[in-house]
Amino acid sequence: MPGTPFRRYRAHKTWPGRAAVARSVARVGVRRYLRRIMSDEKLPILLVPDPRLRLKARPVAEGDGDAVRALAPRMLATMYAAPGIGLAAPQIGSDLRLIVLDCGGKDTPEPMVLVNPEIIAASKELGVREEGCLSLPGLYADVQRPQRIKLRWRELDGTRKEMEADGLLGVCMQHEIDHLNGVLFVDHLSALKRNMMLRKLAKELKLKARDADGE
Ligand SMILES: [Zn+2]
Repeated sequence: MPGTPFRRYRAHKTWPGRAAVARSVARVGVRRYLRRIMSDEKLPILLVPDPRLRLKARPVAEGDGDAVRALAPRMLATMYAAPGIGLAAPQIGSDLRLIVLDCGGKDTPEPMVLVNPEIIAASKELGVREEGCLSLPGLYADVQRPQRIKLRWRELDGTRKEMEADGLLGVCMQHEIDHLNGVLFVDHLSALKRNMMLRKLAKELKLKARDADGE
């Protein structure tokens, strides 16, 4: 995967801020902007109970630069196609601590690529929001998490960044960082609720597989 050339991908060495993305979008339009930052190639998303979703991802090291720059545009393409607002590398079978997300609107994309993201502070106040996950298709549940977090990560060029986030973005960041530690949103629910949901999903996936076999 490392070193694969990307025709359209112009790697953002330092990921542009919201204002810079908005300026680019205004200039070339949403679709053309997104085509520039993502690959043509989508990757298959792992579904539960794939054991790879339960592994702890390893920190991106200096030697992983090519792999990360090759993976990020593919992960963005996979996330937008799903469609989803966040994707973590373990969901596509990579063991790197890398996430992509976009909690902007349809006409105001805010793509982000976060290398080695870590939560360095979390508010005592908790908030509840409904979550879903591309690795658990069709399942949704209210999850309680810290209302506000402070996040630290590295850009594609290694620059260190920090920001505070709350609302949808804060939840999305926490959900994706959970994936890097092998944690799924259903792990925040009671065992009873979690097992019920996972059984339901397993049954649905089995039916789907049988239908696909029958075709
Ligand atoms: Zn997820």
